[in-house]
Amino acid sequence: MTSAASENAKVQSIRLVIFGRQGAGKGTQCARLSEHYQITHVSTGDMLRGAADAGTPFGLQAKEIMDRGELVPDDVMIGLVNERLHEDDCSHGFLLDGFPRTLDQVDALEELLAPASVQLALNLDVPEDVVMDRMLARGREDDTPDAIRKRLDLYEAQTAPLLHWYSDRDLALRIDGVGTEDEVAQRLVNAIDSFLQLENS
Ligand code: AMP
Repeated sequence: MTSAASENAKVQSIRLVIFGRQGAGKGTQCARLSEHYQITHVSTGDMLRGAADAGTPFGLQAKEIMDRGELVPDDVMIGLVNERLHEDDCSHGFLLDGFPRTLDQVDALEELLAPASVQLALNLDVPEDVVMDRMLARGREDDTPDAIRKRLDLYEAQTAPLLHWYSDRDLALRIDGVGTEDEVAQRLVNAIDSFLQLENS
């Protein structure tokens, strides 16, 4: 195999999920990782907002759920992600953002990837007080300290069991998300490369 082909074979196998609090800079870093590894960034929140903006019946229903701060039902999300990951642009790998959000979604994801599996779950960690300050600084109307607190608590409650699931299987990596955009991007790439042993490819 030529080195380009072997590089490609490695790249094809990249299957990542990423977790991070709102305000952790996940969107920016996902765009950079997607570019760096040539993998597709799949954000379920973006997919749902896209459907809502398009005004499809599904999108409007999803919008109601999102506006209430609730989760879209598992079977709906699993169907959506299953279809999305089978599209051509995901055949070189993907970076899944916003999914899984429940343990049933974790199981469903493993099932739909079988016999492969998620290789690595990234936890882009920015402490609560830092994201709180960042969100308050944005000055958005729905960003009251109370509303932010609720979203952070919900994140903690929902995400902790998922991170445990991945760390129990030695598939989770915590990345310090405090720093400049470039610093955090470099940390992510270093961590992913060494975890997936891509550095010698
Ligand atoms: P996000 O941009 O990832 O915070 O997602 C925005 C909203 O979309 C969430 O608050 C949920 O209402 C919904 N959503 C996104 N991903 C999922 C998921 N995997 N399961 C259930 N609901 C989801």
